[in-house]
Amino acid sequence: MDMPVIVLLTLLPGLCVANLTGNLALGQNAVQSSTFEDHATAGKATDGNKESVYKKFSCTHTTYEQNPWWSVDLKHVYKVTKVTITNHGDCCEERINDAQIRVGNNRISNGNINQNQLAEVILSMPLEATETYTFRPIGGQYVDIVLPWQGILTLCEVEVFAKKEDKGSKRNLALGTTLSSHPHMKTMQQPKRLQMVTKNQSTRSSHALTPNMSKIPGGEWT
Ligand code: CA
Repeated sequence: MDMPVIVLLTLLPGLCVANLTGNLALGQNAVQSSTFEDHATAGKATDGNKESVYKKFSCTHTTYEQNPWWSVDLKHVYKVTKVTITNHGDCCEERINDAQIRVGNNRISNGNINQNQLAEVILSMPLEATETYTFRPIGGQYVDIVLPWQGILTLCEVEVFAKKEDKGSKRNLALGTTLSSHPHMKTMQQPKRLQMVTKNQSTRSSHALTPNMSKIPGGEWT
């Protein structure tokens, strides 16, 4: 075994641990444009409970209004790659149709809903479904769910997954190695898009939106 291979086997486990994360939204502070009832606060979408029956008190619910939105603060900047959403389970599944998933470093506010980068559009979701939306990494501290017109936004759970920003670690670990020139390197590179399907979940790709992503103002992939 030559020296570059030994270096790779030593470094790669550390890189994986440093960059893979669990559900970043779990227990984090969330806000929404309005709250219909006291038990339907924004935090009900980050309480770790996917119960989708609204009257079991684990779903959010805005009032009927123009551009209802929901947003979670991840506390740090991450390369967000995947968002999993659990929809309303006892009625009204169409309320989420055309909702936008946005990621960025701008705190959303009423009347200012489009500053963060558009990652995906939820065309529709079945009743009580949990679906995962994957996309190319977008850097940001906030993940927003925005309805682009008048309606009600209800989310029973939102999960966020990402690669953590760790450029310094990557740079230092690679210092002095010859990784890019080694013939084994090609098969060891991280995939650009990550997808995962877990039990009782379905995964949706971002194919419907990807062709337009480059047209978003300031929306270069990061
Ligand atoms: Ca919940």
